[in-house]
Amino acid sequence: MRVLRNARLADGRDVDVRIDTTGGTISSVVAAGSTAFDGDADVEDLGGWLLLPAMAEPHAHLDKALTADEVPNPKGDLMGAIGAWFEAAEKGRLSYERTVERAIQAFELLLVHGVTAVRTHINVTADIGIVSVLAVQEAARAMEGLIDFQTVALTGWPMTGPDRAANVRALEEAVEAGVDLVGGCPNLQDDPATHISDVLALATSAGLDIDLHTDETLDASVLTLRELARQVSGKGFDGTVAASHCVSLGMQPPDVQAAVAAEVAAVGISVITLPQTNLFLQGRDDPVGTPRGLTAIEALLDAGAVVAAGADNVQDPFNLVGRSDPLETAALMVMAGHRLPDDAYGMVSNTARQVMGLAPVNFEPGDPADVVAIDAPSVRGAVADAPMSRRVYRRGRLVASADQQTRVLRPEAER
Ligand SMILES: [Zn+2]
Repeated sequence: MRVLRNARLADGRDVDVRIDTTGGTISSVVAAGSTAFDGDADVEDLGGWLLLPAMAEPHAHLDKALTADEVPNPKGDLMGAIGAWFEAAEKGRLSYERTVERAIQAFELLLVHGVTAVRTHINVTADIGIVSVLAVQEAARAMEGLIDFQTVALTGWPMTGPDRAANVRALEEAVEAGVDLVGGCPNLQDDPATHISDVLALATSAGLDIDLHTDETLDASVLTLRELARQVSGKGFDGTVAASHCVSLGMQPPDVQAAVAAEVAAVGISVITLPQTNLFLQGRDDPVGTPRGLTAIEALLDAGAVVAAGADNVQDPFNLVGRSDPLETAALMVMAGHRLPDDAYGMVSNTARQVMGLAPVNFEPGDPADVVAIDAPSVRGAVADAPMSRRVYRRGRLVASADQQTRVLRPEAER
């Protein structure tokens, strides 16, 4: 039994949280100070810190993370990033060993910020095969017991037409190597509908879920999200489907947004919006009234769709900055996505967990004890300041901690 005493929940209650360490679940939540401790309870006093559901990163690229200096993207747009990445891969600048090291570093950065579950896309293409999948899997083994992770095979181009064989073979090898989801970028293919159909067929036969980079473009004539919804509906796919980005949905007139959002919600497709990378990559050809590149969040939520938020790229050619902190993502959901802070935090915690098929943390008995304590007065304050004083618990065990120290040195102090 572990007790996290003297914690403040998001609703303002001051509580003690009892954790069943065997099952890694919350066993009870009682008013602070009302717990009678038995002798062998392991008690940690959180000193009134805010205790929240742990964060989850539903869309990362750990094979690319932290390469911004090695793989520059002076153009700054999506095709510049893709070109820079493939050139670096061709020149052998992305070794297996470095990929493992960088992925471990990226995992640890996420963990220390309060992330206990991450879904990462990994490039699986004709030129590199599954080497990046193997590297990230090796990194994940070094994080055993610390963080839950899911891998998505991110396929190359072309996946349709006469030249597709080598890319398709790489995807099949990735499935054999144990990836959890089938991915891809339908709108970059010559025949998006066929690609979506192929992905559904492969995921069905392999028993995998699907997460597609969907419509990562401001071009309103591109709308493969609707095609995806219709095929998922028509084929009766059993697994879960996530559509990441959905940028072009945000460029549609309101009636189209509402109609497509209704189809997405009806078939249960989750949407993952990715503010950091889309703000960085999108809109560079529109100097006047530059679009933000986010999806139609309001229309999707109005329709009842599940919308989570992720960071996508972190310090690589697709996004030169990023702190591996979902509180940064949440802050962008407030500023660029116009959500209230509590809703924004939900998008990077329980809703992200929901997209990943993980149970929510509502501080009810039986909930997973995946929680993060933050030295902040409220969820709004946490999102605003992103204080780096945190305690991260996975299944009730402390897995990471950070302590921020600040000093103001007034002149008098020197005397
Ligand atoms: Zn991505």
